Amino acid sequence: MDHLLNDTQRQWQLKARAFAESEIRPRSLVRDQIPQPGDTFDWSLIQTGSRLGIRTAAVPIEYGGHGIDFTTQALMITEMARADSAMAKTFSQSWKWSHLIIDHGNDDQKKRFFDAFVNDDQFVMGGGITEPNAGSDNRLPPADDPKSGLQLRAQLDGDTWVLNGSKCYIANANIGKLIFAFARTDPGAPVHEGTTIFAVQPGTPGLKVGKVFNKHGWRFYQNAELFFENVRVPDSNRLGAINGAHKKHGGRNSKFGDMEYAANALGLCEAAIDTATLHGRTHRQAGKRLNEHQLFQLKLSEMHMLTEALRSFVMRVAMEADVTVPISRKHNGLLMNFSTDAMQRVCYLNLDIHRGANRGEISARADKLVRDAIIWTHIAGDSVQRMKAVKAML
Ligand SMILES: Cc1cc2nc3c(=O)[nH]c(=O)nc-3n(C[C@H](O)[C@H](O)[C@H](O)COP(=O)(O)OP(=O)(O)OC[C@H]3O[C@@H](n4cnc5c(N)ncnc54)[C@H](O)[C@@H]3O)c2cc1C
Repeated sequence: MDHLLNDTQRQWQLKARAFAESEIRPRSLVRDQIPQPGDTFDWSLIQTGSRLGIRTAAVPIEYGGHGIDFTTQALMITEMARADSAMAKTFSQSWKWSHLIIDHGNDDQKKRFFDAFVNDDQFVMGGGITEPNAGSDNRLPPADDPKSGLQLRAQLDGDTWVLNGSKCYIANANIGKLIFAFARTDPGAPVHEGTTIFAVQPGTPGLKVGKVFNKHGWRFYQNAELFFENVRVPDSNRLGAINGAHKKHGGRNSKFGDMEYAANALGLCEAAIDTATLHGRTHRQAGKRLNEHQLFQLKLSEMHMLTEALRSFVMRVAMEADVTVPISRKHNGLLMNFSTDAMQRVCYLNLDIHRGANRGEISARADKLVRDAIIWTHIAGDSVQRMKAVKAML
């Protein structure tokens, strides 16, 4: 689909590709194999990405970023994920919260948060929604039950909000400099009516980081617990209206969400094809190269077919996001579902091609791709996400 890209999009794509090859790929397996989850992170990668403008690429130009469009973001995520899905997600995670600041922040907040983010090459952001007893139901709760969904409580005391409760699986919670905590400001209302967003800084008294989750995939990516005990947040750090966390549907943040994961999944598919192709060319079975066997060829062609279909879908949704307001929630939801199914199948076929072959780095990569692919089952590709897409069709 290169003929549809303009020069700027192409340049950023090539920049991301070069960064992925020179900086991400060499770190990928090394970092993946570090046993302690809190030790897998590498700030030097973020700092190099910062020098190239990648960390701050989604910040508007007037706030010191590069203001790249959604199509470029999708292209760059795919390029980086082809080298390492978790490292790509670490960069796009800060893009996601940049979009939230654009959607919900007032002028003062945009200036304050973007200034701090742009000028510090060790600044990453995160967002806290999930809690030990609130996961899927944050996205698709029983329509009017206030007991469903997140329960982190925020109560106003003068011009300060007091937060109590906990969060889990929060990306960058242990390393981030700004965390957007979603808290209930009206516990008697359903979660989509009674939730407000607060920008919380590490080091605020009462805020504690718990364990870093030891995940089978995306090991570079940091996910941790957060505990709030009378954490005081000034009203000037409240983003958007009180009870307004979910009122900006169709904004940049929601346009980005599903597309971000799907573009990353496309990178995983490309990585699986790279690995399978190399293995097919170099491994011999029954007196000939593996890629001369028909069964191998059928598997590789299915991998290509699913990958190219996914590429078309990702690019369609990304290009729609650049020109259409509001976006099609049906397409976004279906894209997420399709990307999960397609990418998990492609990564599985790649693993199958490798079978028990213990061929060092190549099979370690096939194994890692499957472990990374399974992450989608937890974050996005579950039955709840499928129901969300269906709702937009009825
Ligand atoms: C790598 C990773 C990164 C993450 N990063 C973040 C982050 O940065 N911030 C954040 O807030 N969260 C984050 N999460 C959490 C993630 O959003 C949740 O794990 C996800 O929403 C699912 O919630 P849960 O794990 O509580 O599972 P549950 O909601 O308990 O779901 C378990 C199973 O029950 C099914 N189920 C649940 N409810 C229904 C229903 N109503 N109808 C039908 N089926 C249902 C689900 O489909 C699923 O199969 C992350 C998770 C992972 C794995």
